[in-house]
Amino acid sequence: MNITGTHIAYLHTCHRKLWLFAHGIRMEHTSDIVAEGKLIGETSYPDRSKKYTELELDGIKIDFYDAKNKVIHEVKKTDKVEQAHIAQVKYYLYILSKNGIEGASALLEYPKMRQTQIVEWEEGDQTLVQGWVQEVKALISQENCPSLEKKSICRSCSYFDFCYATESADNELI
Ligand code: SF4
Repeated sequence: MNITGTHIAYLHTCHRKLWLFAHGIRMEHTSDIVAEGKLIGETSYPDRSKKYTELELDGIKIDFYDAKNKVIHEVKKTDKVEQAHIAQVKYYLYILSKNGIEGASALLEYPKMRQTQIVEWEEGDQTLVQGWVQEVKALISQENCPSLEKKSICRSCSYFDFCYATESADNELI
């Protein structure tokens, strides 16, 4: 099974979400992380598709890749789960490096917040990312779905109804 950027992002967001996603349980047709970013990217930067290429490699799909400058442009709605965004693009940089594209970097773009963040490939990242891949594999091979952990991000999660179906609507989220 190919590990995608979404798996890595969900590892850093919620283990339950990762397990549900990896087991084909979808509450919407496409990944919210990928689809939402692409939509915001296309509407915020209408000429972007002409400037950058879409890159598919080893199961990952980068929507906006600046091949000339070796920069991945990843558009996000908010920086609420910034660590997950950083991990996602680090994984992309890992895949690029594995395929002989060295010296690439990534730019996280939050057009609604008018913010950007550069993510570089740093010493030690290879071991770090390989550890994430092992963690993803171990988590998704678990027979049972990890139990619900109430988090502030739950309300904007596509699995909210699924996870909270038997919970009281008044239950407080962290
Ligand atoms: S609703 Fe919360 S617990 Fe359920 S998958 Fe989403 S983030 Fe995880």
